[in-house]
Parts: sequence; C-alpha cells; structure tokens
Amino acid sequence: MGFTMAIDGPAGAGKSTIARLAGEKLGLIYIDTGAMYRAVACYFVENNINPDDCEEVKKACDSIVITIDYCDGVQQVLLNGRNVTPLLRGEATGKMASRVAKLGDVRTKLVSLQRDMAGKERIIMDGRDIGTCVFPDADIKIYLTASSAVRAKRRYDELVSKGQECNIEEIERDIINRDYEDMNREISPLRQADDAICVDTSDMGIDEVVNTLIKIYEEKNI
Ligand code: C5P
Repeated sequence: MGFTMAIDGPAGAGKSTIARLAGEKLGLIYIDTGAMYRAVACYFVENNINPDDCEEVKKACDSIVITIDYCDGVQQVLLNGRNVTPLLRGEATGKMASRVAKLGDVRTKLVSLQRDMAGKERIIMDGRDIGTCVFPDADIKIYLTASSAVRAKRRYDELVSKGQECNIEEIERDIINRDYEDMNREISPLRQADDAICVDTSDMGIDEVVNTLIKIYEEKNI
C-alpha cells in the first residue's frame, strides 16, 4: 500500500539530512524535490535563460526533461539524460532555484513528476509545498524548522569543514532572503499545512530529530 510522509520547511532546516536518515530507518524511498528545482535552475544558468522572460521560460520548460534515478540508494537527478547531481548544491544554484520555483510552468512540470514518482510506493518527500500542494492527503506531514541564526550556523560549520571561506552574517542574510522569496511567492508559497506537526530543531541534534520523526511514524501505526 502506498504511504507518503511529507517534510516541508525553510532553507537549511536540515530537511534532506533528516528525511534521508528517517527514510533509511523506516524503509521509505527518499525523494528530494529541491534537487529537481535546482536541476531546472542549472538548465537556466547553463543556457542563459532569463526567468523573467515568459517566452524563453515556456521554450525552456518544453526542452527540459528531468528524470530521477537511484545509485546505491542515493537520488540522482538527470537533466536531459545528463547526471547533474554534483552541480546542484552550490549557493548560486540555490538562489536561481528560488527564482525558477516561482514560475507556474516549472512548478506544474515538477509537481506532476513528483506525483508520478510516488505512485504506489512508500515514500518520504521533502520540499516547500509537499503537504500543502503536492500531497494534501499525505499520511504524515511534518514542518521542520529552526531559527535563522541556528540554520546559518549549521551551514557555516558545513562550509568551514569543507575548507571554504565564508561569512556567517552573509549566510544568515541569504537564508532570510530565501525564506522571504519562498514564503511570499504567488504559487504554492512555503507555509505550514494546517494538519502538519511542527518540529523546531533549533535545540535538537540530528539523532533526536530523526527519532522524533520515527516516533511520530510509529504512533500513526500505518
Ligand atoms: O531545498 P532546496 O534548498 O534544495 O530547494 C531549492 C529551492 O527550490 C528552494 O529555495 C525553493 O525555492 C525551491 N523549492 C520549491 N518547492 C519544493 C522544493 C524546493 O519551491 N518542493
């Protein structure tokens, strides 16, 4: 029987880490929808497409084929047959992803792909509109959040551990801007679904958050 656990929340709340780990423990297929928007952003950047030009956007949407594959259980995103997964995590791609995510043509295309992927599978899917738009009847809805200062600190630590130079104030500013963009767009803005359980991870470690999700799942008894 199909089963859907929807995880929504702002940038840097740890959705993908938590959803991947909880998915592993619960035997659910993890689907990262942010990576799909990032792959579309990648196409826009590589082909110099202006997201404000309706004609160009329409043409681009007709030319883009996004497919999802799994390699050792890890999601891979293919853009017109090319695996672009290693290109997706950069800050520039994230910013462009927020811009393309406002476009109706892009959302219609990706939401349809997301619904098709779920089918009869047991999935855990993360994004911004999963519980409100993609699967309004999801079995479990979680809204994962944390203060912008905590989210910025986590991102800062991650970049520093990779040897990258960065500025924590700038990271927090970027996070606040991206939240604003995602929460105030016209189509499917980020918001907590009425029936979602809010988990504020500001003072929680990864294991604690994963265990909280597992407990919620077990209590649902599905
Ligand atoms: O989660 P991630 O940072 O990878 O998402 C990149 C961007 O894609 C987000 O800032 C958001 O604008 C957009 N997005 C969205 N709806 C989703 C997933 C991501 O609008 N379901």
